[in-house]
Parts: sequence; structure tokens; C-alpha cells
Amino acid sequence: MENRNENLQEENKASLNFIEQIIENDIKNGKNESSVHTRFPPEPNGYLHIGHAKSICLNFGIAEKYNGLCNLRFDDTNPTKEEVEYVDSIIEDLKWLGFDWGDRLYFASDYFDQMYNFAIELIKKGKAYVCDLSSEETSALRGTPSVPAQPSPFRDRSIEENIDLFTRMKAGEFPDGSKTLRAKISLDSPNMQMRDPAMYRIRHAHHHRTGNTWCIYPMYDWAHGLEDSIEKITHSLCTLEFENHRPLYNWYLDESEVYRPQQIEFARLNLSYTVMSKRKLLELVQEKLVNGWDDPRMPTISGMRRRGYTPESLRAFSDRIGIAKRNNVIDVAMLEHSVREDLNKRAKRVMAVLNPLKVTIKNYPEGQSEELKAVNNPEDESAGTRLIPFSGEIYIEREDFMEDAPKKFFRLAPGREVRLRYAYFITCEQVLKDESGNITELICTYDPLSKGGKSPDGRKVKGTLHWVDAKQNIEAQVRIYDRLFTIPNPDSNEEKGFKELLNPDSLSIIEKAYIEPSVDGADALSYYQFERLGYFNVDKDSKKGAMVFNKTVGLRDSWGKPKNQ
Ligand code: ATP
Ligand code: MG
Repeated sequence: MENRNENLQEENKASLNFIEQIIENDIKNGKNESSVHTRFPPEPNGYLHIGHAKSICLNFGIAEKYNGLCNLRFDDTNPTKEEVEYVDSIIEDLKWLGFDWGDRLYFASDYFDQMYNFAIELIKKGKAYVCDLSSEETSALRGTPSVPAQPSPFRDRSIEENIDLFTRMKAGEFPDGSKTLRAKISLDSPNMQMRDPAMYRIRHAHHHRTGNTWCIYPMYDWAHGLEDSIEKITHSLCTLEFENHRPLYNWYLDESEVYRPQQIEFARLNLSYTVMSKRKLLELVQEKLVNGWDDPRMPTISGMRRRGYTPESLRAFSDRIGIAKRNNVIDVAMLEHSVREDLNKRAKRVMAVLNPLKVTIKNYPEGQSEELKAVNNPEDESAGTRLIPFSGEIYIEREDFMEDAPKKFFRLAPGREVRLRYAYFITCEQVLKDESGNITELICTYDPLSKGGKSPDGRKVKGTLHWVDAKQNIEAQVRIYDRLFTIPNPDSNEEKGFKELLNPDSLSIIEKAYIEPSVDGADALSYYQFERLGYFNVDKDSKKGAMVFNKTVGLRDSWGKPKNQ
């Protein structure tokens, strides 16, 4: 152990976040035999989002860093909102992110018996009582931080009566909402959490694991500490809204005379242009304002995965934002920066034309075609090269041509010469139009000596365009995404509810884009860079011959640049 302590001390303390500082101190002082055991405790009432990813990276990351363990534990104490679908999706997301909980997959519901027995013990100590007040009546008596609560008329029931009633609650003798078990703590604590909080409520509901065995369910605060204690968690990391629950967490465990982990709070991750509450995300899904939990516009892990974000980029983002003690909003551009940085290293480059304009090269030999060598990833030599077909008819991007082009327009214009990437220099000779004056086609010539896009005689061309062969290509659907909301903080708009702030243009679909044939049949989620256009990935709806792509993120970075530039 000594060696390990010395090593830890050698590390630069300044680079530690406040949680790591606490943990290193505990290790140094031999607390919990210098071991570290964390947990990620999702409630299976929705899909995980990027905020959860932060918590996952923190909990699993800490365990990894200090040779500890991290459990996955479902906090399934609320039967009415929880579903197996959510459990499955959470497991899938965690695996995809690359974290491993070994054989330590737990469910709070597995501890219901133990929790019940601990509750009986509290009753026996005179520290809990059955209360017949409704929730409205309870709140009416609760007081305010400066005004003490009035006692429940049931507060002084005898231990025998409490045991009898609680046993009968469990046996199913009473209807929902008719009784609660409450901790007997305080009437005047300025911390409202301590004013005789409910420990159990009655819910005659089917639970996804325990079925109809139970009709009383433990409240979060009572359950959570016991779960942590039973699993011998050393550091129970949670978000700031639980700070004022900490005295209650401690009280429950101390009164139950069981091992007490240390609860430490950190700031929730909030991201601009989105909402992160599971309730709100559920509304978007249920009201079909998005196409399911994994809609690529959603801040869910499954949405981000479908959109083409990599697990590595989410982990890098989580590291980059660090751990804060105060709530704040992170610019979504910072997440996109992490995604772009990672995709730049791994995405295969291909050429695609989203808004096509036909180009016919009139001096290219009739009926001929050839294959030209292209680099798969200039950032990664091992990615190799591929061949792309070229013939006398190609598509370029409509925006890459301008009839009355200003001098500084370095793309194609009448009489001007540009380079086709990996192919040839071409010059625009003629512009064809339909009856309404819309440009339908360009007639160009090419320089056969400029093969590979290399200048034959030292003459320079300024622009390099991407292109796709008009005869050998695939036609694909491409889905382009914009921010889901129109303002940076849709959660806190006083006038409008968050659903009124949805961006009506957050999804646009290009039904027929042309892409070089090499991508046909690529697996779902494969990452690509469409040259000059951005990063795209293969959607799960895709199949050979009917490919579908999602735009993951653009090429250019707006993060870290001064505004108005
Ligand atoms: P809700 O959104 O319904 O309030 P929740 O987000 O707290 O629920 P849980 O399933 O209870 O959902 O969260 C599991 C863990 O993830 C908890 O430890 C919680 O503190 C953490 N967590 C949730 N949201 C965030 C967030 N935005 N940033 C960091 N951690 C989060
Ligand atoms: Mg929660």
C-alpha cells in the first residue's frame, strides 16, 4: 500500500478534480482500507442522455484510475414508470460507451426484503411511524424553513401499532395513498428533507422484476443509501440537487447502524440547445415530436450513437469539461468539437454530392471510363487508398458553380478552370438552361495531362471540387440535422414552454444524393467524411442498394473562435 500512496502523491495535485482530491486523501488515510468502489445508479424510466454519460465516465473513470470497482445498479424503486425496455437500452448504451461492470449488475429491487427489515428495526427504535395523512395534508403541516412543522396526529403511535400497521401495509390491506411510513426525525430542522420524510408509500402496481410481490415501495432517500451501503460503495457520487439530502442519507444509515458510504455531490451537465430532463425527453418521444429515443437530434446516448458520435468522443468530451461544483451550461459546440476531433482521425473520406449539377466533359472519349486512386484518410496512412470511377459525365455541387462569379469565387464559372479532386483540371465552356432559365448542365473540357489532379505545366488552379461519377454511383438518402431547439436554453424561457421552442427545421431530408459506389452496403454506424461537406454515418435504416446517411457534424469548428467571425 505504501508504494501506491507514494505514487499518488507524486502526481500533480493541481490536475486533480475535487472528487479525486477527496479520494486520494481517503486512500492516503487508509479509509475503507484504501479501496475505491463507486456505482452508476440509473432509474430505468427513460433512455440515458449525455448528462448520464458524464456521470458514467466519472464513476467508471474514478474506479479505473484508482484500481477500484464500479457497479451498475438499477434504482428500480418506482414500479409505475419503469420498463424493461429502459433497462435493456441502458445496458446497451453502457457497453457501447466501453465500460465494464463485470458481474456486478444489481437491482435495488433485489434489496426490498432487506430494506423492509431495516424499516422494521427503525420502527422498533421509535424512529419511524405509520402516518394516515394524505400527501396534501402532509404538505399543509410541513411548515417552511423558518416555520416549524406541525406534528402529524399519528406521530406518537405506539411501536406495536406501527409494526402492526406497517406489516398490514405490506400485506396489501390498504389502498394506494392511504398511509405512508415516515421517519421520525424533526419538526423544526431548517432542512426540509429532515422533517419526517416518507420512507414507504403504497402502490398496488406491477413491478418489472418483483411482479406483484410488493405493494409498498421505498422512497428514493431511504432506498438509495441502503443500496450503497449493502454494496459497500465507498464514494457515492451524485448531482448537486442531492446536497441537502445528504444529512438524511447519513441519518438513515447511522440510525440503521450500518456501514455509511460518503456522498459527494457534483454539478449536473447541462448542454445548450437541448433539454436533459427525462420527463421532457419522454414527452418529445410520446408526442412524436422526434422519431423515438434514438432520434439523432436527441441528447440521448442512443441518439448520438445513431447520429455518428463515437464513444471515444463522448468520453473525451466528458474529460474535457471536468467536474464542477456549480451548475452551468456547456456549449454544445464543445461536444461537436470532440466529435470532429475524433472523427478526423477515424472517418474514411469519400466523395458525395448532395445538391447535384450535371457536368459533361465534351473532350473525354465517348464510352470510356477509368478508375482513379484516392486516399482514404490523409490523417491515417494505414487506411490506404481506393479506386473511384470517372467518366465523361459527373455531378458537382450546385453551389460550386456560379454564372456571374465575382473574382474571389474560386470554384467553377464560365471560362474558369478548377481541379476535380483526384481526377483532372476542367474548364467550363458552356452553360445549359431549361425554359425557365434554370441551369441544367455544364459543358466542360478537361486536360488529359492533369491526371490525378496534378498540374501538367506548373499552371495553378485555385479551386478543388469534389464530384461523383454520373454513371457509376449510388443514390442515397441523406438526413441533415440542425439544433433541436431555437434558443440556447429552452429550459428556462419564461414565456414559452420548451416544446414551443422546438426548431421546425431541425431535420431536412435529401432524398437523392449521389455518392461514390465504395460506400454501398457499408455497415450501420460506419463513419465517413464526405469531402468538403462534413462527417456522415450510415443509419440503421440503411441497406445495400438503399443507403441512408446521417449528417453527424460539419467540418468547421465554431467552438473556441471569437464570436462574429
Ligand atoms: P431525472 O432526469 O428524471 O431527474 P436523473 O437524470 O436524475 O432523472 P437517474 O437515472 O436517477 O436520472 O440518473 C442516474 C445518475 O446519473 C444519477 O447519479 C444522476 O445524478 C446522474 N445524472 C443524471 N443527469 C445528469 C446530468 N445532467 N449530469 C450529470 N449526471 C447526471
Ligand atoms: Mg435521479
